[in-house]
Amino acid sequence: MSSKEGKKKDFDFIVIGAGISGPFIAHEICKTGATVLMLEAGPHFNRDTYPCKEIDSNSQLYWGGGIELNTDADIGILRPKVVGGGSIVNQALLDRFDKIALDSWKDVSGADFFTQAKMAPWYDAAESELTIQEIPAQYRNGNALIFKDGFEKNGFNWAPLVRAQKDCRFEDGNDCIECLSGCRIDSKQSTPVTVLKKALELGLTLESEFEVKNLRWAEDVVTIMGVNRYGEHEAYRGRKVVLGAGAIGNSRLLLNSGFKKKLPALGKNFYTHPQSMLLGLYDKAINAHKGPLQSLKSNDASFRANYFKLENVFAPPVAIAMLVPGLAKQHLSVMKRYAHMACIEVAVRDTNPGEISVTGSGRPRVVKRLNAFDRDTQAKGFKAIHQIFKATGAKQIVDGRFTIGLHLMGGLNLGTDPSRSVTSPDFNLHGFKNIYAADSSVFPNAPGINPSFTIMAVSKMAAAKIIQHAS
Ligand SMILES: Cc1cc2nc3c(=O)[nH]c(=O)nc-3n(C[C@H](O)[C@H](O)[C@H](O)COP(=O)(O)OP(=O)(O)OC[C@H]3O[C@@H](n4cnc5c(N)ncnc54)[C@H](O)[C@@H]3O)c2cc1C
Repeated sequence: MSSKEGKKKDFDFIVIGAGISGPFIAHEICKTGATVLMLEAGPHFNRDTYPCKEIDSNSQLYWGGGIELNTDADIGILRPKVVGGGSIVNQALLDRFDKIALDSWKDVSGADFFTQAKMAPWYDAAESELTIQEIPAQYRNGNALIFKDGFEKNGFNWAPLVRAQKDCRFEDGNDCIECLSGCRIDSKQSTPVTVLKKALELGLTLESEFEVKNLRWAEDVVTIMGVNRYGEHEAYRGRKVVLGAGAIGNSRLLLNSGFKKKLPALGKNFYTHPQSMLLGLYDKAINAHKGPLQSLKSNDASFRANYFKLENVFAPPVAIAMLVPGLAKQHLSVMKRYAHMACIEVAVRDTNPGEISVTGSGRPRVVKRLNAFDRDTQAKGFKAIHQIFKATGAKQIVDGRFTIGLHLMGGLNLGTDPSRSVTSPDFNLHGFKNIYAADSSVFPNAPGINPSFTIMAVSKMAAAKIIQHAS
């Protein structure tokens, strides 16, 4: 019997992508008793099976074998491909948007619900699905202490980071750098241990390692075509479809399915919060790879006004080796001091939108550049980090040699105007009443704040509207 025979093919809802938004929405829909299929291109790991070696996790948890590049090859794009999506590989730092970000979204999109008061119940609803904690001060590692000391010596304001985590058991000596490849103790509140788990208990059908290639629209049914884990072409039909394949994934799918003619803004308005990691090398051991990976962030009004933020962060050796400039002995001399490195990252609230298109073979092509304003913002962040490292006695400062894009946002930006946006404030694509999106692709612009909490909140809001439309 073929793997396709005897399978259910028709569903009330099909959700594409099992990242953050997809499971949040699927969970709500499953509560109504509707039949829901979720299709995810990546594999389904669990705490016992996440890849252990950094090099394996890069190749097994990300598209493009670990990293993709923009057309200028100066921004490394990190795009998760695994059940749980970004919630498996990310740092789970959760921030509600401030007035600055929401005012800007309201202006650009015309959607009246982008205010702190109207978003608050949806953030609360998202929060009710998770455990959120601040890292207790006694567990801050050497990297965090440099960050704090440097901030205070320069008169900058800092704040503790807040994470979706349950019990990281720092007293047992756990090193959270490992959780960039999936949390081995299920402390990180990824969707597979929260809303996806609940959706599966309510009857969600999840098919992993199924890459959706195309969708064909009709008013009463959407046909989803893709390739399953056996390399076979397979099709499913959904009365309604929810796109949760992320900024690049959703744009790619709709572009490959011929939607550009009806949705002129498709693929535009793409932002990444370009991030750069700088290293400070100290005589003493810092051991930034030990204990909680990140625990502090900037909380400085002047940084916010200048469109950047700083976070205390680090990365495993392969990633650090990619950031360190130079070759052979020069490169090795820096890498040998891995345990003596402190690391701070600057993230830019980028103002120059990029554009996602597809190549002749249907692969995504990302044009994304920093304009003069964004480069100036980045330079301001570098300056602040140099001040921090110098004030705390760094013997050498190494600027990471390329920029990383890991907050991938836009491409299906939400708005009231169909000529300038793709997704309506009701979360259906303009002109397509049975195709919805509420993930990172609907972001109207770059907020300059960690996106995932807002993806969860917006997905909760969208799910309520989708269910209302369906009834
Ligand atoms: C290393 C790293 C650290 C981060 N840290 C933080 C943080 O601390 N805080 C924060 O707020 N944000 C963080 N982020 C960003 C955050 O994880 C993302 O913004 C978030 O995951 C986006 O959610 P999403 O649901 O839109 O898409 P994703 O989580 O990316 O999920 C999309 C899913 O769709 C699947 N998919 C794509 N195309 C197809 C297809 N054709 N067929 C089937 N499936 C498909 C993908 O494989 C993926 O699993 C981080 C990201 C990275 C990479």
